[in-house]
Amino acid sequence: MKGLMMDYQLTIPTIMRRAESLFSHKEIVTRLPDKRIHRYTYKDFSLRVKRLATALTELGVEKGDRIATLSWNHHQHLEAYFAVPSIGAVVHPLNIRLNHDDLSYIVNHAEDKVLVVDQVLLPLFEKFRSSVNSSRVIVIPQTNEAIPDGYLNYEQVVDSGDASKFKPFEEDEYAAAFMCYTSGTTGKPKGVLYSHRSVVLHAMAFMFSCGDVGVNERDVLLPVVPMFHACAWGLPYTCTFTGATQVFPGPYLDADNLISLFEKERVTITAGVPTVMLGLLNRLDADPVNHDLALHTMILGGSAMPRHLVKAFDERYGIRVLHSWGMTEMSPLGATSVTTSKLSNEDKETQYDYAIKQGLPVPFVETRGRDDSGELIPRNGIAMGELEVRGPWIISSYYKDQSREKFTDDGWFKTGDIVTIDHDGFIEIKDRSKDVIKSGGEWISSLALENALMGHPAVLEAAVIAIPDEKWIERPFAYVVLREGQSVTSRELIEFLSGMFAKFWLPDECEFIDAIPRTSVGKFLKSALRERHAKR
Ligand code: ADP
Repeated sequence: MKGLMMDYQLTIPTIMRRAESLFSHKEIVTRLPDKRIHRYTYKDFSLRVKRLATALTELGVEKGDRIATLSWNHHQHLEAYFAVPSIGAVVHPLNIRLNHDDLSYIVNHAEDKVLVVDQVLLPLFEKFRSSVNSSRVIVIPQTNEAIPDGYLNYEQVVDSGDASKFKPFEEDEYAAAFMCYTSGTTGKPKGVLYSHRSVVLHAMAFMFSCGDVGVNERDVLLPVVPMFHACAWGLPYTCTFTGATQVFPGPYLDADNLISLFEKERVTITAGVPTVMLGLLNRLDADPVNHDLALHTMILGGSAMPRHLVKAFDERYGIRVLHSWGMTEMSPLGATSVTTSKLSNEDKETQYDYAIKQGLPVPFVETRGRDDSGELIPRNGIAMGELEVRGPWIISSYYKDQSREKFTDDGWFKTGDIVTIDHDGFIEIKDRSKDVIKSGGEWISSLALENALMGHPAVLEAAVIAIPDEKWIERPFAYVVLREGQSVTSRELIEFLSGMFAKFWLPDECEFIDAIPRTSVGKFLKSALRERHAKR
């Protein structure tokens, strides 16, 4: 017997319709490239989205066409996030930190028909323009200079649209809506294609998975995470759905500019990678009394989080750091470090210990671990294995790519993260499978060593890699960046670690460097460190 509920397609226009009808007065705020603040309401926003959508149709955009963006976080980017899927086309943000070869590869692989480009990013676009086939380029005007010939002006395109002709896409929730490429730290970037349904369900999941209360209409959310990095973790859709105020930092992601925007706009939630938040903490600590923040939650993800960061933000600023784990292939949210009832009865130090784990899977995400011999690992917090996941916003295959090595025979996605899962279901990442250190047959967690090193007062950052060793096959080796004005020797650091780890875990040496090389999305680029070490 079939249920008797409506056939209501979960498509992206339903998200905007809610904001338009219930939160039309709420604001979307942007710091523009010229530093002026732009603000308008969800009402203004919806009208412009409808105009842009119909104008794109007039320009020849059809269902299924890919429309790329090369943009910072701002209101026009948000407009594209909604207008493109609202006509059944696919919005495809490009990572502006990739090199131009990767960018042209991605645009050509995705067959992006139209590109929407920030005027301030035209110099980057010019570097690969001649190697891509996109038929039209729309430039978002941001400076006093004229838009160069051969490009359309975004504002004129929006003005040319007729909102009364807007027909929201509601045919098929399984249709493609959004596209992202993995950052390609190993091999070529791969395309991940989200559907309307996956975007809507993911937006809902984030609403109630953020901290202990979720994202609310009362919240003012500033995503530092770029809109080209895994859809800004889906937060622009979540915020629009809840009617939260959205604040976009434009190109200004340094600690001073962020803090001033937090203060002025009374931001309550922010989200970004640990490096950015470390920068914020250092800035706040330099002048702890003169800040007036309304922040209650900081969503941190993308790479392992140093313990002292959670503790410092909580103790010194009353800000809850919500550690979250995810992947581009997972839209990206997979797990968050929630405080369960059991954990809330524990002391603060135990809570901090848990906060740096990757946490509990969010609703609809199922997890399991598998060891080297192909067996599922027990949930005892000790056995390690590769994490496998499944759920409605998790990839089932890459775009134009038949390879199945990332998928199990029964259709689960293999994350490449080596984890333990404890009896309460808490996941703890011990390593990326490609970064694992195996010494004398025993396995050593580079993440655990890095975290401990970053707990030393003189250490700003640390990355631990495997180096070849005749006797033990591999040994850990640490690269360390010191805090300004601090000094410590390699031997002192190893001694510092010796109280915390078995002897064979201790790095053979710590080498001091100025900065740890990073990927385009701010993660430690360990392959570059391995190359550096090989040249020693
Ligand atoms: P890429 O895989 O291309 O680097 P993603 O942003 O999709 O880009 O990265 C996903 C990977 O990042 C995860 O598989 C995991 O290794 C790492 N990661 C993400 N969040 C966390 C986290 N909270 N703690 C530790 N590692 C994380």
